[in-house]
Amino acid sequence: MKVEDRTGEFAAYPKRDLTFARGFLATLFDTEGNEYIDCGASFGVGNLGHANPEVVAAIEAQARELLHVGPPFGTTAKAAFIQKLLSVAPPTLKRVFLSNSGSEAVETALKFARASTGRTKIIAAMRGFHGRTMGALSATWKKEFREGFEPLVPGFEHVPYNDADALTAAVDRETAAVILECVQGEGGVHVAAPEYLPVAREVCDREGAMLIVDEVQTGMGRTGRLFGVERWGVEPDMITLAKSLAGGVPIGATLTTTAVESKFGGSHNSTFGGDALACAAGTAALEFTVREKLWERAEALGNQAMESFRGLNAPAVREVRGLGLMIGIELKEKVTPYLQKLASQGVLAIGGGSSVLRLLPPLVIPDDQWSYAVDTIGKVLSHG
Ligand SMILES: *Cc1c(COP(=O)(O)O)cnc(C)c1O
Repeated sequence: MKVEDRTGEFAAYPKRDLTFARGFLATLFDTEGNEYIDCGASFGVGNLGHANPEVVAAIEAQARELLHVGPPFGTTAKAAFIQKLLSVAPPTLKRVFLSNSGSEAVETALKFARASTGRTKIIAAMRGFHGRTMGALSATWKKEFREGFEPLVPGFEHVPYNDADALTAAVDRETAAVILECVQGEGGVHVAAPEYLPVAREVCDREGAMLIVDEVQTGMGRTGRLFGVERWGVEPDMITLAKSLAGGVPIGATLTTTAVESKFGGSHNSTFGGDALACAAGTAALEFTVREKLWERAEALGNQAMESFRGLNAPAVREVRGLGLMIGIELKEKVTPYLQKLASQGVLAIGGGSSVLRLLPPLVIPDDQWSYAVDTIGKVLSHG
């Protein structure tokens, strides 16, 4: 059997016809040695690029010391990571629950919201994406992701995104939480309006509900701020993080206020949550992100690129949206042929829904690679 044979991999998602052998920063190498510029960064996992040397060194060192002990025990790796994370997080967030993925971080936030408020209702947004486990999937909007798995968890309602009146009308004294992305990622890169999150905060305060901002994709510098929500000036009760948080190692984190913890009347745990290896990688990733101020690079490169895409006036393009290096180019047609064409020219992009070309390049992408990618995308969009 060839190393590329993937028939054993359960067909639960569309497979792309590429098998990678290694990667370095923004470059991926397939099994034949062809090079690609990774402008999808594995759905936003790779803010620091592939095999970032500082993350690799931290993983190597931690692997020799201690890989894992259960969450009830402390490790120096976990304590250091939590301290580092809280030192850069929005100041009202003072507690961290660690887990292993974005879905798990969202599950945790939903469970904390219910157990801390004694209420059950959860309000999420249309086009929102919060993961694929049963609770997180109940907050996820897209029909194709939900189909075949119903009944999902009861108590979830979806309101149109960026409609402050609809949100205000939906939240009441039975609402445990409102969960929103500040930029909807999987839903096709839709940025929250300036007043939307402040209204969400206000209505949650009025009704005693919790505001959860899902920053699994927008966090860690992606949108031009370390946390996307900083731009809206709101203080959520909880933030969920995952994807790039540990520089490519699986991790999830739910950040909360002390009030969430003091009202929490339940029990929750995860065997691998707070795993020493992931925490060591996470500390290295955070130190790198903060020292290099990666969010500034995201803002600068993102603004240049969006300006260039808007200037194309390509007939295939309906709209260019985004924030920092989270960019969506909405097309008037299906995106898949464009993704294939770009891959054949050494540029890997991803979709966001069926007609949005989504770009989430590593924030460390070298200037020359990013210019090449932006040029190539421009040409492919202009000439097909
Ligand atoms: C990717 C994503 C998730 C789910 O993360 P997984 O690690 O795939 O479980 C949740 N929320 C948002 C906003 C995401 O982008």
